[in-house]
Amino acid sequence: MPVQFSFTDERVLAVLAHPDDAELLCAGTLARARDDGAEIALCILCRGDKGQPVTPVPELARQRQQEAAEAAHLLGAETYFGDFADGELTDDYPSRLRLIEIVRRFRPTLMLAHTPDDYHSDHRAASALAEAASWFCSSRGHRTPSEPLTTPPALWFCDSLEMLGFQPAFYVDVSDYVGLKQQMLACHRSQLQRSGDRDFTPLEELLVRQAAARGSQAGVAAAEAFRQHQALLRTRAW
Ligand SMILES: [Zn+2]
Repeated sequence: MPVQFSFTDERVLAVLAHPDDAELLCAGTLARARDDGAEIALCILCRGDKGQPVTPVPELARQRQQEAAEAAHLLGAETYFGDFADGELTDDYPSRLRLIEIVRRFRPTLMLAHTPDDYHSDHRAASALAEAASWFCSSRGHRTPSEPLTTPPALWFCDSLEMLGFQPAFYVDVSDYVGLKQQMLACHRSQLQRSGDRDFTPLEELLVRQAAARGSQAGVAAAEAFRQHQALLRTRAW
């Protein structure tokens, strides 16, 4: 049986590498949290400036930011842009401080992040940055314009794309939100143009297939899978 969470009173911040990662990995969970009464936000670290289709899109970074803002609007999520270049995301101290400041502005009780060994180097760097920020956001020694949090947020690692190498610890039932995930994904027009590229996975099929497969594992129509980061002061009972 799936575990039933209520996100009431939570403030959930998803920190992801690229403009369309949330749709595939955790948008259903964010929508459920929103409907439970939680405040939700998305932090997209990279500009998406290097994911060009065969026919190049002019001013791609600006286009992708606009598409991401449209998708976040459908979700009803506040959005933060990290403004890092694709392929250049690294877990270094200036990047940590930039994310710590975003975390301090939203003040989450729960963060969602990529799994540490995900396939894309930007995802792995985003995971490491989110892990570091989820701890240092409550430390006065790391100075940014906003005040430190009093309690570090819990951190959940999201599934990987195609579920490769990810062992779920629990599932969130998103059966009511697959349509929303698809609508959000459809906003990313410049990415969907890449569906003919040989090195690019058709994203909508992947989204539907993965939500159904995780749902099947958990006895519901559709699910998203997670693991809680079991670390000092970030492990919680639900
Ligand atoms: Zn990505």
